Amino acid sequence: MTRSMNVLPKNVGWIEVICGPMFSGKTEELIRRLKRAAIGQQRVQIFKPGLDKRYGEGQIVSHSEQRLDSTAVEDAAEILAKLHAGTQVVGIDEVQFLGAGAVPICETLADRGLRVIVAGLDQDYRGVPFDPIPQLLAVAEYITKELAVCVVCGNPAHRSQRIVADGRRILVGAKGDYEARCRACFRPEAAAAESG
Ligand code: ADP
Ligand code: MG
Ligand code: ZN
Repeated sequence: MTRSMNVLPKNVGWIEVICGPMFSGKTEELIRRLKRAAIGQQRVQIFKPGLDKRYGEGQIVSHSEQRLDSTAVEDAAEILAKLHAGTQVVGIDEVQFLGAGAVPICETLADRGLRVIVAGLDQDYRGVPFDPIPQLLAVAEYITKELAVCVVCGNPAHRSQRIVADGRRILVGAKGDYEARCRACFRPEAAAAESG
């Protein structure tokens, strides 16, 4: 039996990860991909952690005010529970807030043949890799790293500078709590020192 090589995925699911710092356009890119899937008549469901209540619970919203309706979930397992029969594409924004449980859920969905597109922060405010993005990057078929513009010097920025004093790893960003910074302008000790 001869085997032909499939260049394009056929009858399989896969995982796409969109990562980067705050303001890098992760949500914009997620919205772009999900809108195109919907234009292609695919059945799309969008989830985000209930923790992220910045703009109400019913939508994912970009800093440029693009928005799409979404379902808030308290943990990753709730995505499986709320999945409709027939859904072909699943989008998850701010996936880093779902914790380690997001990895097996994304794998399960992709194994079932769904296209899974997740967006999330790959580093926290100290520049430390933000679980479970590293684990998702490892198991994903497609990965995209977005960059923002450094607010200090204008170079490409891959870090999120916390500009309010707070030692918590998770501080859901309100306007003015964070800014995009490049490697040279990032000052993690500034945010950490003030918070003790
Ligand atoms: P993310 O989801 O990665 O936080 P968004 O998709 O919500 O990013 O927002 C990206 C948008 O943020 C950009 O298109 C731009 O309008 C705006 N923006 C504000 N500050 C910056 C910055 N420093 N660098 C790049 N874009 C910025
Ligand atoms: Mg976003
Ligand atoms: Zn800079």
